[in-house]
Amino acid sequence: MFADVLSVQDHLSLAARWGAHDSEPYPVVLAQGEGAWVTDVDGRRLLDFHGGYSAINFGHRHPALIAAAKAQLDRLTLSTRAFHHDQYGPFCQELAELTGTDMVLPSNSGSEAVETALKIARKWAYRVKGVPDEAAEIIVAADNFHGRTVTILSFSTDPRHRAGFGPFTPGFKVVPYGDIDALRSAITANTAAVLLESVQGQVGVIVPPKGYLADVRALCDDNNTLFIADEVQCGLGRTGTTLALDHEGVRADLYTLGKSLSGGLLPVSAVVGRGDVLGLIKPGDHGSTFGGNPLACAVGRAAIRLLATGKFQECSRELGAYLHARLDELDGVTEVRGRGLWAGVQIDERRIAGRRVTEELAARGLLCTESNGHLRVAPPLVVTREEIDFGVRVIADVLA
Ligand code: PLP
Repeated sequence: MFADVLSVQDHLSLAARWGAHDSEPYPVVLAQGEGAWVTDVDGRRLLDFHGGYSAINFGHRHPALIAAAKAQLDRLTLSTRAFHHDQYGPFCQELAELTGTDMVLPSNSGSEAVETALKIARKWAYRVKGVPDEAAEIIVAADNFHGRTVTILSFSTDPRHRAGFGPFTPGFKVVPYGDIDALRSAITANTAAVLLESVQGQVGVIVPPKGYLADVRALCDDNNTLFIADEVQCGLGRTGTTLALDHEGVRADLYTLGKSLSGGLLPVSAVVGRGDVLGLIKPGDHGSTFGGNPLACAVGRAAIRLLATGKFQECSRELGAYLHARLDELDGVTEVRGRGLWAGVQIDERRIAGRRVTEELAARGLLCTESNGHLRVAPPLVVTREEIDFGVRVIADVLA
C-alpha cells in the first residue's frame, strides 16, 4: 500500500535537512489514523496512547468531524472577521451553551487563546478593577505549560523553554501549584488574574490537592481578581467531564480551550467566559485572519455536538478508572497520577529511561511519549477495554 513512497529513513533525512529542529520527534513516521490507531509509512499499525496531547479526544478522523469538514470545504473556508459568515454565530452560541458560559472569542492555537485571555484580563484590570496603568499583575503557577510565545515563556519556569529568548514580558508572578497560602500572599490590589491549568498536563498530569481550586475561586472573589482556567489540554472531555474544573464544582471567569475543539483536524481555540469580561473587547482591540473561520467553526460545531452527547466524558470516566487500576498494578511504576483516560505514569528509571522507553513502546506497537521520567498516557476517548489491555501489556513488557 505504501510501497511507492519514501522509506522511514528518507523521511527522517528530509525532515532533518529541510525542517527546523524545533522538536525531536521519535523515529516513527505516521501516514494514516483511524479511531485509536495510527499506521506508519511501512503499513505498521500502532495503538495511540498519545492522543495528540489531547487534541485527538474523539479518535483519529472521527466520521462526524470529517463529514463536517468536507461539507464546509465545498462551501466556504474563509471570510475573515471583516465579514460575517453563517458558521460563526452558531459556533459561538453552541460552545457557550456547552460550557455554561456567556460569550466566546475564537482563535487558532492554544497559545493564542492564552495570550488573548491575558490581554482581556489586563484590560479588565484597568477598565473595571481600577488598577493603575501598566501596573496589572497576573499570577501563574510554577511548572506551568501554557504555550511557546514570548509572553507565555515570560512566566514559564522551565529554563529549557526560556533560554535564549529574552527579554521577557513583565507583569507576572509565579507561585507553587497547589499552595493556596502562597497564592494568598502573592495577591495584591494590582492582581488582574490568576491563570492556572485545572490539571497541569505537560509537567506530568498533576491534579492539584482536593479543595485547592475551590479555594482559588474564593480567594479570587475576595480580592476582586479573575480566575482563568487553561483547559487547552485538560478540557473537553479528557478528564471525564466537559471541563476539568467541573470535578471540583468550580467555575472560572475565563477558560481557554483548544486542541480537541476541532478533534485534531485543524487549529481551533477560544476564550470562553463571562460576558461582562469578554464584552470589554472592542473592535480594533484584537483580531486574527483565521480566528473563527468558517471551516474551523463548522468542525468545532461538530466537535461540540459530539461532546453534547456526554458519551466521550462517560467513556473517559469509566475506562479511565480501568486504565488507572491496570497501570497501578505494573511493576516498575512508582506513581500513577491523573483523572479519567489521562495518566502521568512515573517510571522507576532503574528499569528504563528517557527516549528509549518510547522507542521500545513504538517497536512493540504503542505510540506514547515520555518526558522527565513519566509516560503521559492519553488515548483517544474511543479506546476500548481490550485496546487498553493491549497498551498496558506493552508497557509492562517494556518495563520488565
Ligand atoms: N495551554 C496548555 C495547557 C497546553 O497544554 C498547551 C499545549 O500543549 C497550550 C496551552 C498551547 O497550545 P498550542 O500548542 O496549540 O499553542
